[in-house]
Amino acid sequence: MAEQSVLILKGNIIFTPDARNFKVYRDSYLIAVGGVIREICPALPAQYQALRIHDYTNQLIIPGFVDLHTHGAQFNQRGLGLDYKLLDWLNRYTFPEEGKFSDPDYASRVYEAFASELIAQGTTRAAVYATVHLSTSRLLFAVLARRGLGAYVGKVNMDANCPDFLKEDTAKSLQATEEILAEWTGNSLVKPIITPRFAPTSTRVLMDGLGKLAIKYDAAVQSHLAENTGEIEWVRELFPEHREYHQVYQHYHLFGRTPTLMAHCIHLSDNAMESMKENQVIAVHCPDSNMNLSSGIMPVRKLLNAGVKVGLGSDVGAGHSLSMPQTMIRAIQLSKIKHALEAEHQPLTLPEAFYLATKGGGSFFGRVGSFEPGYALDALVINDTAAGWDMEPLEKLQRFIYTGTTADIAARYAAGRKIG
Ligand SMILES: [Zn+2]
Repeated sequence: MAEQSVLILKGNIIFTPDARNFKVYRDSYLIAVGGVIREICPALPAQYQALRIHDYTNQLIIPGFVDLHTHGAQFNQRGLGLDYKLLDWLNRYTFPEEGKFSDPDYASRVYEAFASELIAQGTTRAAVYATVHLSTSRLLFAVLARRGLGAYVGKVNMDANCPDFLKEDTAKSLQATEEILAEWTGNSLVKPIITPRFAPTSTRVLMDGLGKLAIKYDAAVQSHLAENTGEIEWVRELFPEHREYHQVYQHYHLFGRTPTLMAHCIHLSDNAMESMKENQVIAVHCPDSNMNLSSGIMPVRKLLNAGVKVGLGSDVGAGHSLSMPQTMIRAIQLSKIKHALEAEHQPLTLPEAFYLATKGGGSFFGRVGSFEPGYALDALVINDTAAGWDMEPLEKLQRFIYTGTTADIAARYAAGRKIG
């Protein structure tokens, strides 16, 4: 054990081992060895007593946040054009913005700012879209790896129904994807993920090739599913051979054949939900984006009751903020509106939303998002935002989630290393 680094954090430790309840260890020691959690102790065991303790007494220690759906290349587009719905928003704002990522200087500036903001907001793991451009997608991998974040990064594939300046040659798109897979598959923190933007911008040949690459490299997959009714209608016209949207991905081995994230999942049939459950496809709920693009409300309770795994995503730039606490709150608030409209749709609770943004989403990265033994030490230290007031640690956490800012996060750790 001597050659493995030991990290000891002391404070009020809070996490959600399950979605029902917060677990609170007051004034305790969180001990990690080689970046992996060993135990939580109320008193420091004898063998660690000569070691340095990172003393955060009176502060909170919580898991780092997991953002399962965000677009690094849309970071500079936050807040713009949000009076449009999805397809107009893509054509008028997103595609022109993503076109700028042929320029490495521009890409580098945006990706550095994106990584800085992820870290500031306490996100320690993220599933991120780049653009179709190979060279600047490589840049995004390099930036996130250098900053010490855990991530899945996708070079986007598009070879149909998009502007010429983004439309890829199918063979070249597959070749570029394979180059990235070969380069980054072995990395422990930043991994490649196969990323057809969505079915409408993909030919059948492209999806067939991507599915084969997913199997060959045992690579994860991410895309968008059933976000907007116009989009769903378009998929029906483009792929009349499939009865439902998700079956297009499924046909090409892009729906759970390897670990898969599907963003949005707002308008799904019971059959599609059943298929997500069966194939262990994770539905990523992006509440800001649901509202900003007037797409609808993801029926999160219905998916959870159907046994579908769910995570949370900021979906920047259709979402306007990388803050996962704000994403949690909006998920809760949307679920309350859904409940007002349909009484049987029970609202999300705070521990449920916290679970989705930590251990739930973290499961895509392995043992991530909890402080149980064997989990990666991804942790945030939260300042005592209620100093001077007589509040329990759990109340302080509630206050932070609803009213906290980046300035309230005193320290950040990803995979056992301090980042910032
Ligand atoms: Zn998206």
